[in-house]
Amino acid sequence: MLLWSQMHGDEPTATVALFDVLNYIQANRTAPHVARMLDRLTLHVVPMLNPDGAEKPQRRNAQGIDINRDALMLQTPEGRALKALRDRVNPSIGFNLHNQNWRTSVGRTGKSAAMSLLAVSFDQARSDNPGRIRAKKVAAIVRDAVEPLAPGMIGRYDDDFEVRAFGDNLTKWGTRVAQGLQACPCRCA
Ligand SMILES: [Zn+2]
Repeated sequence: MLLWSQMHGDEPTATVALFDVLNYIQANRTAPHVARMLDRLTLHVVPMLNPDGAEKPQRRNAQGIDINRDALMLQTPEGRALKALRDRVNPSIGFNLHNQNWRTSVGRTGKSAAMSLLAVSFDQARSDNPGRIRAKKVAAIVRDAVEPLAPGMIGRYDDDFEVRAFGDNLTKWGTRVAQGLQACPCRCA
């Protein structure tokens, strides 16, 4: 499993969440549920893909390029590193972690989305294949786990295909990608 966060430098919440997860795993590695997970799963984690953007903070990297629109051109060192990692690891699933604007609502309910999930498309028709169906199932499991903690506040993110984005291209390259977006007080999308 490959997880990466903060490809947009002004979207910090998943970086913090990933370190919380890693601390939890380290502190509880002998607990049966953690030991079982570690026995079956290898985690590859990039907690901060865009440290130059995070330093400012700004969405783009030091070259002024949006790394999440660089999946095809690979003009950025960060994009090339993520692509190389994906090719080397060939993960069974990827988690592409972002922030979203805190004003984003869950459908027409008027409730703010604490988190939105997306099984990333690989074509304009937003087709399904076994990999995308699996990503949808993973998103559904995450939704069911989080829903009791934030009732009615888990959204489904727009699944329009973005030809230059990493999640969409990783899906096309054969990695099932579930995208998670947490509400953020800053102006992220
Ligand atoms: Zn983002």
